Amino acid sequence: AKADGRGHFRVFTPSMRDELLRRKKLMNALRLAIVHDELFLLFQPIVDTTTGKTRGFEALLRWRHPELGTIPPSEFIDLAELSGQIVAIGAWVIDQACREAASWPSDLFISFNVSARQLTDNALIACVAKAAATHGIACERMVVEITESTLIDNDAAALSVLHELQAMGCSIALDDFGTGYASLSYLQRFPFDKLKIDQSFLRKLDGENCDDAKIVRAIGELGRQMALTIVSEGVETPEQLALVRSARCALAQGYLFDRPLSPKAARDRLRQEGAT
Ligand code: C2E
Ligand code: CA
Ligand code: CA
Ligand code: CA
Repeated sequence: AKADGRGHFRVFTPSMRDELLRRKKLMNALRLAIVHDELFLLFQPIVDTTTGKTRGFEALLRWRHPELGTIPPSEFIDLAELSGQIVAIGAWVIDQACREAASWPSDLFISFNVSARQLTDNALIACVAKAAATHGIACERMVVEITESTLIDNDAAALSVLHELQAMGCSIALDDFGTGYASLSYLQRFPFDKLKIDQSFLRKLDGENCDDAKIVRAIGELGRQMALTIVSEGVETPEQLALVRSARCALAQGYLFDRPLSPKAARDRLRQEGAT
């Protein structure tokens, strides 16, 4: 057992030891992930809830480790944050995402996730500008997704970076909306263009009148009042789509439409849509 510094003791079990070892191993391996070309992006379509047409894609990061297989972001993003590697990895994500978006019709947006360390690092603005110039895509096509926790503790710095990104033409989306501690006060203080309703509000829908359905509708109304585009995440069933449509959420994302796709599969989807 080990004291945690506040007089509590945690029993240190073998499985916790394995977990720690795995995390240490991952953290070391992550250093070489970019150099060894082990990172890649998948692209999940975000569709118009009324027409069903693809309006853009969210870039989602994956890591293919030679021995451990494909590692989901839930296992390594926080490690990359801790070690500071997220800044280099994040720059790679923005560059690759914009490179891919350059091959799509120019009315489609590209959304990418930005973490706290990146948002307060001076390099972010330059990184976005460079990706736009290198790949010839307008910043107006870029959506920067951040979560409430990204903003905690660095309000002032984050605010000025967000304003600068918007001045360049980027949109700002508040991800996982509704799960934080102070979502509404963030809406007051930060200049968002989009809100992404967290998937947890769609998970246990069992009828139009359950509380979650009411919350989704209320967020739809909030979006109209504040002129924010509402994106519903985690739409898996036709019933969930019917709800987000009736709540007049403009955009939706989820397995009902497609899983995160390889770059080629994303282009095939666009080609098929264009043909119909
Ligand atoms: P997120 O930004 O909230 O992304 C949505 C997650 O929901 C993705 O998980 C996506 O695959 C999953 N998803 C999409 N549709 C459905 C659905 O219908 N049902 C269910 N159950 N899940 C769905 P993923 O790709 O594992 O990413 C997890 C999180 O990792 C992301 O959550 C994001 O916070 C973070 N992440 C991913 N890529 C990056 C990145 O490039 N940079 C940073 N900083 N974070 C990233
Ligand atoms: Ca996101
Ligand atoms: Ca989300
Ligand atoms: Ca999330």
